[in-house]
Amino acid sequence: MSKSTKAAPSQTASNKKRDKQHEAQLRAELRANNVRHWRESRARWQQLIQYLKDELPLPLPVHVRLVPLVHHFGYAEKDGKSFLIRISTYQEWGQALYTLAEEWAHCMRGMGGRSYDEDHDALWGLAFSTALRTIMKFQEENPR
Ligand SMILES: [Zn+2]
Repeated sequence: MSKSTKAAPSQTASNKKRDKQHEAQLRAELRANNVRHWRESRARWQQLIQYLKDELPLPLPVHVRLVPLVHHFGYAEKDGKSFLIRISTYQEWGQALYTLAEEWAHCMRGMGGRSYDEDHDALWGLAFSTALRTIMKFQEENPR
């Protein structure tokens, strides 16, 4: 009895350690897959960005960068002369399309709200759905 109660915590600790290692391994595999995926999809991605620039032009030049962001799917910034959109490579193509629509919509709507809700108001929502529809049109016109 005392043996098993003593064994339990160390068993749990060792399981936790194993779970953590497993989780880290899965995350590493996922990242490796995504890196490969983005290497293969880069040309199509560039084509999509050009399509968006043509179909939904922004008031300033926009640079879109694929980067390994860990804590965000993406974000958009404005420096006065241009927009910079960062899209994380730690997501799949389908998820990245939504992220791109979200960030493109921030550039269309204008940034600098004082809260999350202000930045994602009804006008942003309209821009988001417009960007998403344009991206869907691209997917339809350019099947894989
Ligand atoms: Zn947003």
